[in-house]
Amino acid sequence: RFPVICIDGPSGAGKGTVTWRLAQALNYQLLDSGALYRIVGLKAFEAGLITEDTSNAIDEQAVLALTQNLKISFVPNNDSGRVDIIVNGEAVGEQVRNETIGGYASQIAVFPEVRQALLKLQKDMATRSGLVADGRDMGTVVFPDADVKVFLTASAEARADRRVTQLLTAGQEADFEAILATIKARDDRDENRATAPSKPAEDALLLDSSTLDANAVYEQVKQHCRD
Ligand code: C5P
Repeated sequence: RFPVICIDGPSGAGKGTVTWRLAQALNYQLLDSGALYRIVGLKAFEAGLITEDTSNAIDEQAVLALTQNLKISFVPNNDSGRVDIIVNGEAVGEQVRNETIGGYASQIAVFPEVRQALLKLQKDMATRSGLVADGRDMGTVVFPDADVKVFLTASAEARADRRVTQLLTAGQEADFEAILATIKARDDRDENRATAPSKPAEDALLLDSSTLDANAVYEQVKQHCRD
């Protein structure tokens, strides 16, 4: 069996950066499990299964059927410091990373059968080499026997602040209050769903990155991997 490192936690806590750096440093594969849910969310939206009105019920069986027809793979991209996502042979653009798609992802992520359909693909990634896996349920559901588990959090305010800075740096507009509300709504859905809610595994290291920069987070996680 190959070693598995799980980095779980809410969006904006810095999971992506630490996961990427660990995967590079250790020459492990990287599983961006959020991207799987984002792709399903995007495809469900494109198929008209998700509408702007979040109070509309979503057809779980239709989302499941769509999920079962997706062939998803990841290719590391050194320029972006993330993985490129290939779906049915085609690269999916960076737009899949935006907050709207994140919202769609969390709406379909509540469906147990959809989660089940994505499970094998995730587990299989640890059968070829060491793996660093980033998500919400890596340490609790997908890799309960992982060698290292970290739950990386930060206050919603700190995460909203980072998002504002990111958007402004990219020359886009950013409304702190609106971003904070979106983050809280997604946290709420992810933490309170019945299946695989976002929560630390019992044996996870809890790390709050509210007042830490990316380097400090990386150093602490690296130290924990050595311990
Ligand atoms: O991590 P990221 O923001 O890309 O995840 C998008 C959404 O996908 C999360 O808000 C969550 O609803 C869902 N997700 C999940 N389980 C994972 C990873 C992501 O339910 N392991």
